[in-house]
Amino acid sequence: MRLLLLAPPGAGKGTQGERLAGRLGVQHISAGELLRAQARADTGVGREIAAYQQRGDLVPDAIVFEVLTPVVVVAVARGGYILDGFPRTLPQATAAAELGVRLGLTLDAVVSLHAPQAVLVQRLLDRAIQGGRSDDTAAVIRHRLEVFTTTTSPLIAYYRDRGILVAVDADQAPEVVTTEILTRLSDRSLTPDRR
Ligand code: AMP
Repeated sequence: MRLLLLAPPGAGKGTQGERLAGRLGVQHISAGELLRAQARADTGVGREIAAYQQRGDLVPDAIVFEVLTPVVVVAVARGGYILDGFPRTLPQATAAAELGVRLGLTLDAVVSLHAPQAVLVQRLLDRAIQGGRSDDTAAVIRHRLEVFTTTTSPLIAYYRDRGILVAVDADQAPEVVTTEILTRLSDRSLTPDRR
């Protein structure tokens, strides 16, 4: 199973990524988490990544590929992945598709999670109160949502045009969202029926 999770901040990519990986028995890879791990390292590139993340800006594609590619290659060898937070730009999507062609890999599905903007903002502010991430401040949250709308959301049409988009309402309890995703994947004969 090779699955992407495409969703604005606060839609539950991380939560669903973990839940789906557990249910489907493949590795969960979070692009944001991998980049945060690099950012914690006291290196030049780590400091560069930290600065982008702190502002809520996207990390440059070259750095993202350098960090992500080896992890994805290992996951593929082990049977697949649920990749959350990548791709986030059209150039990332086309580069990933080219790499897939070269490696003889295709994506099974792209799950797009959606929820009203007010719900996303509230969830992120709640996470901030619970001692969340340093990019969970009101101003940076607003910016990250703008970046999603302008730069990442065109990927929804990109994958819909390729016939692999599964759109799910994320404004529901996490277990309901997981069940809906698994049902929709099994409707496409992508998973054993686990209902
Ligand atoms: P996330 O954990 O998915 O909310 O991502 C947190 C931050 O990591 C984003 O605001 C970006 O700064 C960076 N990031 C994550 N994934 C990507 C990506 N595919 N391309 C560029 N930057 C990314």
